[in-house]
Amino acid sequence: MTQTFRIAVFDGDGIGPEITKPTVGILQHLSAASPDYDLLFETLPAGAAHYAQTGESLPVKSLEAARAADAILLSAMGLPDVRYEDGTEISPQIDLRKAFDLFAGVRPVRVMPGQHTPLKLPEGREIDFVLIRESTEGLFYSQGTGEVTEDDARETLRITRATSEKLFRFAFELAHGRKTQGRGRGRVTCVDKANVFRAFAFFRGIFDEQAKDFPELIADHAYVDATALWMVQKPWDFDVLVTENMFGDILSDLGAGLMGGLGMAPSADIGLDHAVFQPCHGSAPDIAGQGMANPMAMILSAGMMLEWLGERHDVAALTHDGVRLRDAVESVMRKGESLTPDFGGAASTADAADAVCAMLDT
Ligand code: NAD
Repeated sequence: MTQTFRIAVFDGDGIGPEITKPTVGILQHLSAASPDYDLLFETLPAGAAHYAQTGESLPVKSLEAARAADAILLSAMGLPDVRYEDGTEISPQIDLRKAFDLFAGVRPVRVMPGQHTPLKLPEGREIDFVLIRESTEGLFYSQGTGEVTEDDARETLRITRATSEKLFRFAFELAHGRKTQGRGRGRVTCVDKANVFRAFAFFRGIFDEQAKDFPELIADHAYVDATALWMVQKPWDFDVLVTENMFGDILSDLGAGLMGGLGMAPSADIGLDHAVFQPCHGSAPDIAGQGMANPMAMILSAGMMLEWLGERHDVAALTHDGVRLRDAVESVMRKGESLTPDFGGAASTADAADAVCAMLDT
C-alpha cells in the first residue's frame, strides 16, 4: 500500500529557491519510482523578502500549514538588509524551532575516504560524527528581548531540566541507533563549560543522570574550547556530541569547515512531533541569482528528512531512499566532475543536482 506524506516547503530567500527547486525535483523522482510512498509538496510563503513586501515574516497560515504537514523542508531565510526595528534580522527558521519545540538541532559531519576536506586525514581514517545543538533555549533564550541601555547590554542564558532531559535522551537514542548500524562506538559526549558556569554544571548533571538509562553506551564530557581543538586535531574520535544552543551554533560551522564548506553541511531541527530539514548555510545573497549555489547541503537535508519519515512511520523504502540519496551525493562529490565553484568546480546548481539524480539511477 502506498503511504502519502505531506511536505511543507519554505523556499526562503536569496539562493533558497534556486536550491529548493532541484531538491524537490529529486524527491519527486524518488517518490515516483517507489510503490511504497508518495510525497505531496506545498510551498509556503515566509522570510525576509516576504516581510519586506507584506510586513509579515511568518504568516499564521504558513505556520499552521507547516504544523499540519508530516515534515518541513526549508532552504534558508534572512537577508542582511531586511531587519526589524530593533536591528535584528528576520529569522522565521528560529521562530519555527520555538513554535514547534524543535529542541534537537542535528548536524551530521561526514567525510568518507576520497571526499574533500581541508584536513590531511591519516590513512584509513574517516570522519563520521553527529553534533546535536539544543535549539530552543541556551543563549538564544532571550533572542529579541535582550536588555540594552546606553552603557550596558544583557542577554540571558537559560537551561531547563525538561528540555535538557529530552535533548540528552535524543542524543543517547541516536548513539544507540548508530551503534546498532555499525556506525560509531556508542559514545555520547556532553560539550559544556561546566568548569566556569553553574548553568553548565547543571546541564552536565542532567546528562549524567540520563546516561544511567543507557549503560551500554559510553557517556563522557568535554569543554567546548577543547572540543573545537579536537574537532580539528582528531575529528574521527567523536561519535555523538551534544551541546547548548550557542556552542552548537559555532561548532556546527566548524563541522561544516571539516566537510569543505557550508555547501556540504545538512541539518535537521527535530522535536517530539515535528521536524524541519534545512542546510546549515544561510541565503548567500552574495551569489544569489547566479545559478552557482551548491545544492548538496539541501539535498543531504532532504535525505535526512526521508530517513526520519521512514523511521517515524515505519516505511523502510523511505529510510532506504534517504540513505541512497546521501550515498549518491557522496559519490558525486568523490567523483569530482560536477562540483560547484565553492568546491573548486564550474558546475551550476542544476548540473550538480542532475549529477545526483543520474547517480541515483546507476
Ligand atoms: P551564508 O551561509 O548565507 O553565507 C556565508 C558564505 O558561504 C557566503 O560567501 C556564501 O556565498 C557561502 N555559501 C553559503 N551557502 C552556500 C551554498 N549553498 N553554495 C555556495 N556557497 C554558499 O551566511 P551569511 O552571509 O552570514 O548570511 C546571509 C543571510 O542568511 C543572512 O541574512 C543570515 O541571517 C541568513 N542566515 C540564515 C540561516 C538559515 O536560514 N538557517 C542561517 C545562517 C544565515
